[in-house]
Amino acid sequence: MTQSHSQTAVITSENDQRPMTTLSFYRYVHLRNLNEMMESMREQWSSLGVLGRTYLAEEGINAQVTLPTENLELFRTAVHQIFPEIPFKIALEEKSEAFTKLTIKVRKKLVADGLTDSAFDVTQVGTHLTAREFNEAMAEEETIVVDLRNHYECEVGRFDNALLPVANTFRDALPEMLDTLKGQEDKKLLLYCTGGIRCEKASAWFKFHGFKDVNQLHGGIIDYARQIKEEGLPTLYRGKNFVFDKRLNEAITDDVLATCHQCDNAWDNHSNCRFEGCNRLFLQCPSCKEEFEGCCSKTCHEIMQKPKETRVALQQEWERKGGPKHYWSKTRLPKELVRAERPLDEPLPVP
Ligand SMILES: [Zn+2]
Ligand SMILES: [Zn+2]
Repeated sequence: MTQSHSQTAVITSENDQRPMTTLSFYRYVHLRNLNEMMESMREQWSSLGVLGRTYLAEEGINAQVTLPTENLELFRTAVHQIFPEIPFKIALEEKSEAFTKLTIKVRKKLVADGLTDSAFDVTQVGTHLTAREFNEAMAEEETIVVDLRNHYECEVGRFDNALLPVANTFRDALPEMLDTLKGQEDKKLLLYCTGGIRCEKASAWFKFHGFKDVNQLHGGIIDYARQIKEEGLPTLYRGKNFVFDKRLNEAITDDVLATCHQCDNAWDNHSNCRFEGCNRLFLQCPSCKEEFEGCCSKTCHEIMQKPKETRVALQQEWERKGGPKHYWSKTRLPKELVRAERPLDEPLPVP
């Protein structure tokens, strides 16, 4: 939706053989003259061999980049001229294949949150906590730990006793959480998400709604895992951290917190339904994967036996009826539908 308004600058680079560093940074801050900023960044960054994806909006910046390690300090200086002191979160492992070009986009929002900027000041964020501080705060009485991720992310891993959203999107999770926490404005809130950026917005939003002691895990679960490892701290996060690259998750501990959506055996690796028109993201154990050949339901499994043209036609028919269309599903198909006989032209419902 915001895509259509976006301005884009793209630079593609040749294969850079130098040692690379991958890092990310973000900040909610009021920005102006975004197109000029985008152009000058593009020029400066590409001369430093920077690749990656960056979003600029009137509410701030969110960047994930990789660059030759020898240019790191020059890059830091350049970024700090615009965003003083902004912390770089440097990835532990170098992901050389992570980015093949430099993309800088101007968008309406950094994260789709459904909140209007005029409603509150997004720069009034909560207190940032390190992993150690977060652990200590969790041990205090009367603190409330709030998971700000989506349902499918927290089903495979989470902090002990965290309040988990039922919603499928961040946009829906915010009002849901506010409703749940009504009347507890004096309690200490501990917010966390995958990489920290959703907490930036949410902490400002909770403060705007009268919460007095709002804290957030700085750098999210990704950086928590790094700090735990480096400092030898106990981890209070169990299971997996759902991430948005090809791996889908990284294990923080060996605990398996979830079950296969089709048979309820312990299982916590997400996969997508093999029928492209469905693409439902779900949990399927190896034996169900074999039985359904990677499909989420009997309906999708039957569709997969058909020739490609038939599948495309069915998909288009589904879309005309407002059914699922290439959606990155965040919802669980009810058990009774998994094995049910359903007419092939009837879309599986999105619960
Ligand atoms: Zn199963
Ligand atoms: Zn399916």
